[in-house]
Amino acid sequence: MQYSTQNLLCSAFAFVFGAAVGSFLNVCIYRWPADLSINRPRRSFCPQCKQPIPWHHNLPLISWLALGGRCAHCTAKIPFRYFAVELVTALLFLAIWQRFPWQMAIAYWVFVSFLIIGTFIDFEHFIIPDRVTVGGTIAGVAFSVVIPALMQTESRAAAGVRAVLAGALGYVILWIVLEAGKIAFGRKRIEFDGPTPFTWTKRDDDDAHFIVGTEESLWSEYFAREKDRLLLQCDEVRVDDREYGSVTLAFHYDRVNADGRVLLLDDVTHISGVTRELVIPREAMGRGDLKFLAAIGAFLGWRAVLFSLFAGSLLGSVIGLGTLVVGKPVWSAKLPFGPYLAFGALTWIFFGEIVLHWYGTLLTP
Ligand SMILES: [Zn+2]
Repeated sequence: MQYSTQNLLCSAFAFVFGAAVGSFLNVCIYRWPADLSINRPRRSFCPQCKQPIPWHHNLPLISWLALGGRCAHCTAKIPFRYFAVELVTALLFLAIWQRFPWQMAIAYWVFVSFLIIGTFIDFEHFIIPDRVTVGGTIAGVAFSVVIPALMQTESRAAAGVRAVLAGALGYVILWIVLEAGKIAFGRKRIEFDGPTPFTWTKRDDDDAHFIVGTEESLWSEYFAREKDRLLLQCDEVRVDDREYGSVTLAFHYDRVNADGRVLLLDDVTHISGVTRELVIPREAMGRGDLKFLAAIGAFLGWRAVLFSLFAGSLLGSVIGLGTLVVGKPVWSAKLPFGPYLAFGALTWIFFGEIVLHWYGTLLTP
């Protein structure tokens, strides 16, 4: 009886502590991509009106619900993401606390915090900052030395070496996948069912809106390297006030070649026309994912690297097929892989042993 009361109190603490940490993770998710310091200004502020948020309007989970997801000052909508991050963090902290001895639990709390920041930044910005990936790798090695059980050993030295090797494995294995992917799916050809209107409109910030059919995107999303090329086969096209008939526009990030005539995009403000086929220079995934998988290895070991890659790819394919069936996005150049890797890593933490056991029974007759 006494034990269960104590257990309940500890679990309640883990949940509330997780919600509070989630509130802090929200700050990192908002500020790290923009390179704002997390300490200055010290108080949280509304992303819309920049007003500081008083502490009694900044209680994890409760405030968002009580204020109906709006800023108390300007009534701008506070994205659901803030609530979701706090809830997910609280639930994960609770689940980890109930499952693992306290030393392991603390290490996993830190680890899932990195996972959550990386996942939500990747969703919004299609990058994972070094603070998450490199920071996570360093933290993983440090925690493995302090808590060798993370690497299934009792020796601190062995745990440190294993964490470093697992991190390296994560980086190298995904690098190989990335390089192979460049050859296999380096470019993606999209044939439209019929003539499809498109527009390319310069923005103030050196980028451009690129709209094909109903797909809107930013120009900068397509180009990662100097030699990346985007081809647009057009029935008719208008570049500012110059008309072209049937022509293939060959774009680089800074210029376009139309029938041998090269125009610098700096000098162009508007391109529109009708297209039949688009070839995009598709990068299979970003470099941040390599370092993200390294962090997963440094915290969870080499088997988790292989499992996360496998489970993440599997989920990615299922979701890819799902969107094909539902018929929602027609095509997209964006591919955030970080959230899928994070899914694989979380699955490993909670079900890794079951998976290993099941795999073992497959191998032993
Ligand atoms: Zn506000």
